[in-house]
Amino acid sequence: MRLLLVEDDRMIGQSLRLGLKQEGHAVDWVYDVAAAQAALAAEQFDTVLLDLGLPLSADGAASASAGLAVLRTLRGRGDATPVIVLTARDALPDRVAGLDAGADDYLVKPFDLDELLARIRAVARRHAGRADSRLGHAGVWLDLATREVSLHGQPVLLSAREFAVLEALLQRPGAVLTRAQLEDRLYGWGEAVESNAVPVYIHQLRKKLGADYIASMRGVGYFLPKAAPP
Ligand code: CA
Repeated sequence: MRLLLVEDDRMIGQSLRLGLKQEGHAVDWVYDVAAAQAALAAEQFDTVLLDLGLPLSADGAASASAGLAVLRTLRGRGDATPVIVLTARDALPDRVAGLDAGADDYLVKPFDLDELLARIRAVARRHAGRADSRLGHAGVWLDLATREVSLHGQPVLLSAREFAVLEALLQRPGAVLTRAQLEDRLYGWGEAVESNAVPVYIHQLRKKLGADYIASMRGVGYFLPKAAPP
């Protein structure tokens, strides 16, 4: 998934970004309200992780619930991107205000990375209207909770980035995703995009799932054909 992390604490931000990337998420990290507003106006994210105590701009001091402005702006223009609020332990009124302003969930610091990962999956699932954590198509099942993938009931081992590419394709079987859209799912800002990375992951996935499982539309992108492969 492509995540926006809004967190002014460099230590917390760095460890979160590292942990999320290791799970195969693309993470863009901003430190203040203005940068978060700009990012959300320019790009589509799968989930936003929003600290509330933030500076308003790069050279400002943090103020207690400034992060709520990000949430209010987002919801104010009808954007339903899932938002998980990250709050300090003693900030109950902020938490209530966050939920009232349209947050999907909240976590109290300090929290386990595993718990954050589970909350991210849960809000994404609710957002997509799915009842469980699995995505399936034509004999392949991918479980977002256990990160297990199977083909006709047999387990298939994927790298974190192969998993991320397959997850993106499985979210909308039949829909064509461009190479740039898939790169967005794999890399955050400032990360060097390895040239040919997407074709390489597609090649690996075809070796593991069958050559016909992922179709190419020349010059456009990749998709999962509607009919099951023979
Ligand atoms: Ca903060």
